[in-house]
Amino acid sequence: MAINQSGYSSILSELRTSGTTLVAVSKTKPVEDLQELYGLGQRDFGENYVQELVGKQPVLPGDIRWHFIGHLQSNKVKYIAPFVHLIHGVDSLKLLEAIDKEGRKLGKTINCLLQVYIASEETKYGFDLQEVRQVAAHYFLEKKFGNVKICGLMGMASFTEDQTIVETEFKILKSMFDEIRHTYPDLAAEFNVLSMGMSGDYKLAIQCGSNMVRIGSLIFGSRN
Ligand SMILES: *Cc1c(COP(=O)(O)O)cnc(C)c1O
Repeated sequence: MAINQSGYSSILSELRTSGTTLVAVSKTKPVEDLQELYGLGQRDFGENYVQELVGKQPVLPGDIRWHFIGHLQSNKVKYIAPFVHLIHGVDSLKLLEAIDKEGRKLGKTINCLLQVYIASEETKYGFDLQEVRQVAAHYFLEKKFGNVKICGLMGMASFTEDQTIVETEFKILKSMFDEIRHTYPDLAAEFNVLSMGMSGDYKLAIQCGSNMVRIGSLIFGSRN
C-alpha cells in the first residue's frame, strides 16, 4: 500500500500557515508506509496500540517522535515509557500515577496530554471539565507528579456529519485549554499543546484553535 503523497503535501501546506503540528497516525499500517512518509520528512507519528508501537519503534529511525494516541492501560505504560515522545490519551488519575512512576524509574519526565471528554458518545474516554480542573490543580499547585509534564489537552469530537456539533465540542475544549493557561499563567509556556482534529474534521479543529492534528486515513488510506 502506497501513501497518498499529494494528500500529505497539501495537508502540510494547509498546516504551515497556522503553525499546526501534524501527527501522522499510522496504526495498522506496515512499516514500509511509515518509512515512505519518513522519507518525505515526517517525524511525528501516532500509534494506538502498545504492542504494535513496540514492534515498529525498534525497526524505524531513532529520530521519530512517537505519539501514543490510543487508550493506554496502566500496566502497559512501562513498554512505551522509555521512548515515547507524548502520550495524548491520559484519561485517569490512575494512569497519570502509573506514568509518573515509570518516569521516576527511568529518571526522566514523560510528556502527557490530558484527554477531555467532549463528545456526546458513551464510548469516548476522558476526564470531564471539572476533573480536568482538579487534575490541573493537583499538578500545577500541589506539584504532584514530578516525573510527568502535562503539556496540554487532547479531545475527540463526536462522530457525526453535523459540523455544528463538532464545532461546539472543539470550542469547549479550546476554552478549557485557555482557562487553564489563564489560571496558571506562569505555566502557560509548558502547557501549550491542544491536540484536536482528525482526517474528517481537522480544518474545523484548526479554526477552533487546535495546534496539533492527528491525521491517519487522509495520508495512509483507509484502514481495514
Ligand atoms: C485513528 C485515530 C486518529 C486518526 O483518524 P483518521 O480519521 O484516520 O485521521 C486520530 N486520533 C485518534 C485518537 C485515533 O484513534
